[in-house]
Amino acid sequence: MTSQRTRDRLINRLQQQGIYNEQVLDVMRRVPRHLFVDEALAHRAYEDTALPIGYGQTISQPFIVAHMTQLLLEDGPANSVLEIGTGCGYQTAVLASIFPQVYSVERIEALHQLAKKRLAELDFYNVQLRHTDGAEGWPNPSYRFERIMMTAACTEIPEALTAQLSPGGVMVLPFDNGVEQTMTRVTRSADGLVSESLEKVIFVPLLPGLG
Ligand code: SAH
Repeated sequence: MTSQRTRDRLINRLQQQGIYNEQVLDVMRRVPRHLFVDEALAHRAYEDTALPIGYGQTISQPFIVAHMTQLLLEDGPANSVLEIGTGCGYQTAVLASIFPQVYSVERIEALHQLAKKRLAELDFYNVQLRHTDGAEGWPNPSYRFERIMMTAACTEIPEALTAQLSPGGVMVLPFDNGVEQTMTRVTRSADGLVSESLEKVIFVPLLPGLG
């Protein structure tokens, strides 16, 4: 159930659903998603579905991981990415297979520790993880990121995050207006922040403080 054939089937499905970026498809063919979920769920790891990872959280659906990663690449390659919501670390691994420097924060200590262990075991040396509240941005306020990806839905875009977005930088996030969630792309252009609403999505909420 975790064979290359099963993985290839998922990649074909992603292509049919509109994932066209070859780099994203190639990386998702290689990153072992089954090693980021509980052993009891490993046989379902290459289904295009979200799965529970404990603590009331989920590993995002592969299509969503591919789509958000593809959105971050639409304006060309970039050096540094900040992810809000490490969770099990799967999206982090996908990002780290594409971008040279990846930073990711998680509010639940146990998930942070588990992701750290898994990513180290898989030899991802270009990842820095922190146990912190992502709404406050990366703990070093002087850092700037060319891309930011939030993997939990927010009701307000945290200012600490837009402040850490480089000029020309792109941030993608699920935005919750109280009724529904919409994938949103925020770009820091010469005229300031430009926000675009994309499609409807469903994410776990961005929660305040540490868990
Ligand atoms: N990126 C993950 C998705 C995990 S689900 C993947 O690859 O599948 C979203 C994660 O965001 C959860 O682990 C949740 O604990 C975390 N989260 C929610 N609010 C947060 C906050 N304020 N700061 C950091 N992480 C947060």
